[in-house]
Amino acid sequence: MSWKTKFASPLRNMLKLDDALEGAIKVTSATAREDEVRAILSVPGVFIASGHFQYPVSESGKVGNHLTSLFLIEPIARNEQYVEWIAADICLWAQAEKLAFDLIFAPAQPAVKVLARRIAERLRLAEAYWEYTPGGWFGSRLVEGTIKEGDRVLVFNGVTQQGRCVGERLPAFVEAAGGKAVAAAVFAKGTAAGVSAAEKRFGRNFYAMVQVDITVASASDCVVCRDSSHGAEELTPWTRFRDSV
Ligand SMILES: [Zn+2]
Repeated sequence: MSWKTKFASPLRNMLKLDDALEGAIKVTSATAREDEVRAILSVPGVFIASGHFQYPVSESGKVGNHLTSLFLIEPIARNEQYVEWIAADICLWAQAEKLAFDLIFAPAQPAVKVLARRIAERLRLAEAYWEYTPGGWFGSRLVEGTIKEGDRVLVFNGVTQQGRCVGERLPAFVEAAGGKAVAAAVFAKGTAAGVSAAEKRFGRNFYAMVQVDITVASASDCVVCRDSSHGAEELTPWTRFRDSV
């Protein structure tokens, strides 16, 4: 169901979102309440509609991707009510799909941990977190909790732009530790091919409250860098926005 269908007037007028966000967002949870989604998305700093952003930040010889818009989980995770609404909707989905988990597994990104912890409390799950650098890269080890042999794991992230985090990488870490990634959840998913792959892998066991139209490209494929009319557009690390909201 599209955003515009779901939020036909008079609900459309309840809370006016930024026009750019309105055009870029689609609600993808069947159980989410429209007034709550609108409130969550109206938090200042959650979406920067246009620009030239680097995510993750290039470091240690690794080169980050280039994005033309940015969606941040940090301003959402700072609001306890929003965290509660998201956790509650994920519980509704888990119930509806009759999913059973032992553990929630997420990157140790501070804002993501806030959400994962609330979901774990509500579903009475153990928690485990994977190393996450300040610039946005996955590290190489568990930094909190343990994954036990045979654990049924809910893989979680705040935002997946490309789908690979919840579709491939986090499940691979779970499986290397002997667990089973039975489902994946994010607050926001992007529109890249990897997101479709994650949806295909998990089917109905994949949850996203919203879908955001975000263009992600490798540094060498970035249209902004290639387009001479934008030749001088500065590349801004995503952390500059994360740290300013
Ligand atoms: Zn670029």
